Amino acid sequence: MKKHNFSAGPAILPAAVIEQAAAAVLDFNGIGFSLLEISHRSPEFIQVMEEAEALVSELLQLPEQYKVLFLSGGASSQFFMTAMNLLEQDGHAAYIDTGTWSSKAIKEARLFGNVDVIASSKDKQYTYIPKDYLIPEGAAYLHLTSNNTIYGTQFHAFPTTSVPMVCDMSSDIFSRPIDVSGFGLIYAGAQKNLGPAGVTLVIVNEELLGKVNRVIPSMLNYKNHIEQQSSYNTPPVFPIYVTMLTLRWIKAMGGLAAMEQHNRTKAALIYNEIDRNPLFRGVAQTEDRSLMNATFVTGDPAHEKPFLALAKEAGCDGIKGHRSVGGFRASIYNAMEQESVLALVQAMQHFERVNG
Ligand SMILES: *Cc1c(COP(=O)(O)O)cnc(C)c1O
Repeated sequence: MKKHNFSAGPAILPAAVIEQAAAAVLDFNGIGFSLLEISHRSPEFIQVMEEAEALVSELLQLPEQYKVLFLSGGASSQFFMTAMNLLEQDGHAAYIDTGTWSSKAIKEARLFGNVDVIASSKDKQYTYIPKDYLIPEGAAYLHLTSNNTIYGTQFHAFPTTSVPMVCDMSSDIFSRPIDVSGFGLIYAGAQKNLGPAGVTLVIVNEELLGKVNRVIPSMLNYKNHIEQQSSYNTPPVFPIYVTMLTLRWIKAMGGLAAMEQHNRTKAALIYNEIDRNPLFRGVAQTEDRSLMNATFVTGDPAHEKPFLALAKEAGCDGIKGHRSVGGFRASIYNAMEQESVLALVQAMQHFERVNG
């Protein structure tokens, strides 16, 4: 039976990417060594790094002053690294709180300066994206989380402001075209929509760097990583390679506009069923629903376990909701095929026939 991977992260990767990655572990491009045993300073790996950077720039159409970095430490390290590099001790940064990940970013930023939470959807268990708020002119930056992996909400439009935006795009990077020029810095842990765990993509407007007074340790200073082309220390060689392969795959699929189309089609399939099927209901406010993580619940708690079991029988894996939300979450990232979403939809219809 075909299995369908709805895991929230680490998550599904394109089958072709997994095959190429497996081959590179045995013999990388016919050089007689595994990718796992070659130097990060070797011409072979430098080429991988350069291609990965070039693909990021090409897919997002990055302006000249935006630099691409591949770092370690996960998106969680960016919670403090962004503030450390961009926020003066007596400065102010504005944050929009749309869930667990935003809250963690807020907590870390407070170690380095003043944080103004200008909007929050905590009042309704993070089921919506706040829309009514004022962005203080003098803020060093505005931080937001573009897609809330746990709650299944997503910014479908970004604020227009002269304040540079810093955005955690861990779970929707490369899922749609974006205008990068409004962002000062974008970061994303690779393991949701881009590659395996172990590497974090950072895209930063170089003009914002070097302005704070504090002393920044070398490993935590973006300028240092820019100067050393992400190889100040040993970079996560294998995750960067797999990320590069995924970027090639996205390009071959037609780039970000095609990705968005593909993602919209899949999201429509699952949300239509959630809305149609009397045994399920969506968690997030309709207009803010995520194209990446569809969260839903049953009306009857007694239905929860039986549905998980039925879905599993249909090959649908990883749909149990996050422990803080409960219910179900179908993560339908770039690499997921329409046929897998249909398998889940059919499982929901089957469940309705049995229990409706
Ligand atoms: C998963 C996730 C994180 C945490 O990423 P790590 O790489 O594990 O630190 C942060 N933000 C968002 C939006 C996420 O989905």
